Amino acid sequence: MSTAITTIGVIGAGQMGNGIAHVSALAGYEVLIHDLAEDRIRKGLATIDGNLARQVHSGRISEEDRKAAIARVKAATDVDALAACDLVIEAATEDEQTKRKIFAGICPALKPEAMLATNTSSISITRLASATDRPERFIGIHFMNPVPVMQLVELIRGIATEDETFEAAKGYVARLNKTATVSEDFPGFIVNRILLPMINEAIYVLYEGVGTVDAIDTAMKLGANHPMGPLQLADFIGLDTCLSIMQVLYEGLADSKYRPCPLLVKYVEAGWLGRKTNRGFYDYRGEHPVPTR
Ligand code: NAD
Repeated sequence: MSTAITTIGVIGAGQMGNGIAHVSALAGYEVLIHDLAEDRIRKGLATIDGNLARQVHSGRISEEDRKAAIARVKAATDVDALAACDLVIEAATEDEQTKRKIFAGICPALKPEAMLATNTSSISITRLASATDRPERFIGIHFMNPVPVMQLVELIRGIATEDETFEAAKGYVARLNKTATVSEDFPGFIVNRILLPMINEAIYVLYEGVGTVDAIDTAMKLGANHPMGPLQLADFIGLDTCLSIMQVLYEGLADSKYRPCPLLVKYVEAGWLGRKTNRGFYDYRGEHPVPTR
């Protein structure tokens, strides 16, 4: 089967989906973006437009590049529109049942030779592949946030992923001018297996009263030379996503060292999910972020 990719479908127009659509369009791919509702797709398209304009402003791309890229991204309100895609990348909410339902819903609409990928941060690629009709043409393509800025993409093969699928995914990442690393299919892969326990530990440090939000972030920025404090980073990732990843590590590796901090659970239960809801470990509703503890 052919693996030439010209048209890419993106499921989920949230922070990752719009970033994946953005970089794919800039690299010359035709992009179709789908979400639960039309207003979410529109919001995603507006974010892409705004981020492309920012790149023009900072001199990283030309105005012509911006116009050409935005013209290549189209809304797919109906999954039937995905029939045109050579590769569909799922970047919806980090929840296994949600993702399984998406695959069951879109597979009948896809051409038989189309490849499917997931941007999951932690869920088993082999298990997600089993929810599709093409596990051999299924792969994990894990982008980092924000997609237009971050250089790394993790590639994760499921047990059934064929070499041709892996090579096509490698070619796609290379065309985006990004660097691929290969991870085995274990919970959290490489980046989140290491990063999320650190963030979770920072939340325990806050929970136990060892330091304030400000003290913890300042300590890690100035003491460990991290560009961003762990709590600031958690807000940036999304606290719901952080909690889901910790639950996958905890359940998948069956080790109490991955137990999600109860304070993280409480923030998610409150709907304080970080930047995307304007409140998390910081409150973003004013001019400057203000720590919430
Ligand atoms: P987000 O909450 O910003 O966006 C998720 C989007 O998925 C929303 O627009 C939502 O409406 C949509 N969605 C939910 N159910 C859907 C369905 N059934 N059909 C179509 N769309 C649906 O989340 P995000 O941060 O963009 O994360 C998306 C994925 O990317 C997750 O798997 C996450 O783990 C992964 N990821 C996130 C980060 C990060 O830093 N946030 C980094 C790498 C990977």
